[in-house]
Amino acid sequence: MSLDTRVPINGQTQIVGVIGWPVGHSLSPPMHNAAFKYLGLNWAYVAFAVPPDMMAQAIQGMRGLQIRGLNVTIPHKGAIVEYLDEVSETAQILDTVNAITNVDGHLTGYNTDGQGFLRSLEEADEEIPDKQVTIIGAGGAARAVALALAGADAARLTIINRTAERAMRLAGLIKQYSVLPTVTALGLDAAEAGEAVSTADVVVDCTAVGMYPHADVPPVVPAKWLRRQQLVCDLTYNPRETVLLQAARQVGARTVDGTGMLVHQGAIAFERWTGQEAPVSIMRQALLEALE
Ligand code: NAP
Repeated sequence: MSLDTRVPINGQTQIVGVIGWPVGHSLSPPMHNAAFKYLGLNWAYVAFAVPPDMMAQAIQGMRGLQIRGLNVTIPHKGAIVEYLDEVSETAQILDTVNAITNVDGHLTGYNTDGQGFLRSLEEADEEIPDKQVTIIGAGGAARAVALALAGADAARLTIINRTAERAMRLAGLIKQYSVLPTVTALGLDAAEAGEAVSTADVVVDCTAVGMYPHADVPPVVPAKWLRRQQLVCDLTYNPRETVLLQAARQVGARTVDGTGMLVHQGAIAFERWTGQEAPVSIMRQALLEALE
């Protein structure tokens, strides 16, 4: 049965939402509104399209209108930091915020992406301690995931990116903020890239390659680099089964798609705003329906 994600709006309704530019494609409104409805909370989640030059006004509006929380998406995740009263340690290191709480006018920024990714692994009964991990990509999502993996006691982290210099910068950041013994950066065209993927226990594709509407583009990681005993993750959630995950399944590897991370990064924000445990399975069902 399909979920009804509409919430009744009245004088007591608490508002949360997402700001981005554009933001009409966001899957967060159905996910959060389904959770509010399920728990009987008089809250509503809306999408605000905020042009980059209106950021200051948008944040003033959040204070003035007492909007209880916001998610932040592209292109505001970095620029928003200077408008907040406080930023969590992780968000400070990443210089990126994807969720804000408003407690009596005090705005605190968080980054819930890395924790969301770890929770999606936990849910799939996958463990990171002592694992050799290779991630592909060095953009915003890769930074959050790399920091989370380093904090989860991976044994080795190799970062491979098309632009090698960006991979090196990310490796430098991880070395600065973690005690991970081995962190290596490689360009995608480096001779060692294939071996770094083939010898990994866990491979995480953090690039935008394979995302709708370009789902047929060949993945950055060729199938010949994958092995049966590996866990292969793709942060892309549309489509759920990317060409990379199909290839991984064909060699017999275990796979985790990007929907779990999307649900859990949202669930962590939900919990910070409402103080209640997020109904993760309801949020997932709403997300999957919205994706269809
Ligand atoms: P981003 O900051 O723009 O980074 C994009 C990354 O992809 C960079 O490393 C870039 O390499 C690489 N890349 C792009 N096109 C490429 C190509 N043709 N060949 C090789 N590498 C390529 O984007 P992001 O915010 O990190 O997002 C990346 C992906 O993660 C997106 O698909 C996004 O939807 C997904 N994501 C999922 C979740 C979730 O909850 N599941 C959360 C956040 C993001 P260069 O540095 O060389 O440009």
